[in-house]
Amino acid sequence: MSIKENLEYIHNSIEEIALKNNRDISSIKLLAVSKTKPIELLQEAYNEGQRLFGENRVSEAEIKVPLLPKDAEFHLIGHLQSNKVKKACKYFKCIQSVDSLKIAKKIDKTCYEFNKVMDVYLDINIANDKNKTGFIVNDSFFTIFEELKELKNINILGLMCIGAHVEDRDEISNSFKDLRMLLNTLKSKYPDFNGDKLSMGMSSDYFEAIKEGSTMVRIGSSIFGSRL
Ligand SMILES: *Cc1c(COP(=O)(O)O)cnc(C)c1O
Repeated sequence: MSIKENLEYIHNSIEEIALKNNRDISSIKLLAVSKTKPIELLQEAYNEGQRLFGENRVSEAEIKVPLLPKDAEFHLIGHLQSNKVKKACKYFKCIQSVDSLKIAKKIDKTCYEFNKVMDVYLDINIANDKNKTGFIVNDSFFTIFEELKELKNINILGLMCIGAHVEDRDEISNSFKDLRMLLNTLKSKYPDFNGDKLSMGMSSDYFEAIKEGSTMVRIGSSIFGSRL
């Protein structure tokens, strides 16, 4: 299958799931996860109208971003190290993988120096998975959030998660539902917080994610083929 056919398939599939679940199709964006893939494939997707791309390494974005037209938008979806923050703030339109107060403060400080505001998502370790990064949701998360939302040079659009890594479809659904409920809790607890986005759903579980309110699915292998 070509990238064109894969994109058509995904768009149709997203539309079908949205219809089935009474979701407005325009509220669901597609992030094409292009990590490890060569620029020619990104260009092919771009030529088919794809504008949002997800990368998990700053070093890869540094090479790819300048090679695509300016209206292509890159989102960082992998853990960010302190020493890469400057470059991340330069090349990414959005950092979806903010997973500590420390890194958030560093992004904020860097963007203050760059005179810009960075769109971010908070990466939530929703299924409490030891092998994953992201905030664990407990009492101290809310204390941290109170500090995060005051940072002036980051704009928290919403929350991001990776679904539970299990076979059971209901358990996967539940992890996405938990993320949606956490966003609702934050919104009602902090009326000055107006983040309303949920980045959730990958090739294997975007059906469940859309059903539970995803506003951005992050799809890699179903568009670009499997990664080695
Ligand atoms: C790799 C990756 C994806 C895409 O995964 P696929 O299974 O290839 O669709 C989505 N989100 C994150 C955070 C990733 O690292």
